[in-house]
Amino acid sequence: MRQIAIYGKGGIGKSTTTQNMAAALADLGRKLMIVGCDPKADSTRLILGGMPKRTVLDTMRAKEEEDVELSDFLFTGFQGIQAVESGGPEPGVGCAGRGIVTAINLLEQLGAYRPELDYVLYDVLGDVVCGGFAMPIREGKAQEIYIVCSGEMMSLYAANNICKGIQRYAAAGKTKLGGLICNSRLVDNERELVEAFAQELNTQLLYFLPRDNVVQRAELQRKTVIQHDPACPQAEHYRALARAVEGNRHFTVPTPLTGEALEALLLRYCPAE
Ligand code: ADP
Ligand code: MG
Repeated sequence: MRQIAIYGKGGIGKSTTTQNMAAALADLGRKLMIVGCDPKADSTRLILGGMPKRTVLDTMRAKEEEDVELSDFLFTGFQGIQAVESGGPEPGVGCAGRGIVTAINLLEQLGAYRPELDYVLYDVLGDVVCGGFAMPIREGKAQEIYIVCSGEMMSLYAANNICKGIQRYAAAGKTKLGGLICNSRLVDNERELVEAFAQELNTQLLYFLPRDNVVQRAELQRKTVIQHDPACPQAEHYRALARAVEGNRHFTVPTPLTGEALEALLLRYCPAE
């Protein structure tokens, strides 16, 4: 069983990319579980065809702990993919990361990590890896991490911060960075920039995903692109990403950049006016 955590700045495309990759892996016959670690609870909407009926934290609020069952919050979606959302506290109340700790502990206690699973994917919110959001890597649940980014400055800034967290936890455990996934925002020289950034981070650009409005059209139908339009070029990109993850053997401890080095890198790839 490979346990993989996907990190990246909010809105960068973690949930879209994770679910499309999961759908592509499921089409290859792999058994998967997606664990949504974002209080928005929208990490599994495309796989389930809508928002989940209940999150782990919803369940904990409604039931006594000893009465909780897996079927309260673990649902089956496209191609048999198992999907669960940790959920979040009421806005303004408590730490949003707490749900992740509760969710993973309950999934373990209730036997959700079944031996036949090939992949567990954690879709984790966060610009920095702290508190509950660090749980999937801090406790060695996930051995592999991928960071979704684009060529935009703030996304690379977030990716660099996430690498600082990974560096800290990787030193103690067996969690390693498997690479960057660039989800294009049509930035100038984007591929070259992210490739150079990856190299300075002691990692690789695992895959470059183009921007394509079929992603929005599929999202409106509450589907992955793989399900909505399996023959379109973007679906083929998600399949290629899935194959890249399956075949990846390049795992490292990242070496984050200083703020100055990151800005200098961005300037190097910025075309002259
Ligand atoms: P995150 O989970 O990182 O917060 P989402 O996966 O929810 O981000 O994506 C944010 C928005 O970006 C979504 O509305 C999604 O449709 C859009 N999006 C993601 N990837 C692409 C892409 N490759 N092309 C076009 N739109 C995309
Ligand atoms: Mg998300």
